[in-house]
Amino acid sequence: MRLTVAIDGPAAAGKGTIARAVAAEFGLAHLDTGLLYRAVGRRVLAGTEPVEAAQGLRREDFADAQALRTPDVAQAASQVAAMAEVREALVAFQRAFACRQGGAVLDGRDIGTVICPDAEVKLFVTATDDIRAGRRFRELREAGHEVTLAAVAADLAARDRRDRARATAPLTPAEDALLLDTSELNIKEATARAIVAVRAVFDRLQAAGAVPEGQ
Ligand code: C5P
Repeated sequence: MRLTVAIDGPAAAGKGTIARAVAAEFGLAHLDTGLLYRAVGRRVLAGTEPVEAAQGLRREDFADAQALRTPDVAQAASQVAAMAEVREALVAFQRAFACRQGGAVLDGRDIGTVICPDAEVKLFVTATDDIRAGRRFRELREAGHEVTLAAVAADLAARDRRDRARATAPLTPAEDALLLDTSELNIKEATARAIVAVRAVFDRLQAAGAVPEGQ
């Protein structure tokens, strides 16, 4: 069966949490594509040239998500993500993941627009700048990072600006994406809305015999 769920949106809008919940609910594989760019960013911080870092990326480079979730790596990721050749080097891996047997959820910035324009479900997750900054601030503090709310807000604003303004695969909702504003929603409510949206498509595919029974 082929069910691809594409989840895009700006940093700290709730994409990752929603993507993991959708993947668990429907038994789909999940890829946080931000980790690919973060892994490239980390290699660049260590001295590798960006395109070489992207072309030579290995699974073990993005296996440790926690090590990649630092403010420095996030900024480096957003800088390398603006380079067309870096993005190009990561396309094949993401598309292969999306087409895997059993179905997949991918979250990122350009999944519904560039990586999987034919995805069966597309969500574009947003939240206000203040809410996103507050969420990311708490996450980073809980993970032991010494950050201030002002610095986190500035980091998100800079990354969002770069992601929206770049020439290649800018952050923008696909025309057929369902918009999900999580500003006023808690995690449970946000994931429940996403699951309802996916459920409708999943049930249709299952009725058509495209999804194995019991999934
Ligand atoms: O999602 P996350 O914040 O981990 O992504 C880190 C950076 O990687 C983003 O700021 C963005 O510049 C880039 N990115 C991207 N396209 C994706 C996923 C992430 O450009 N599909």
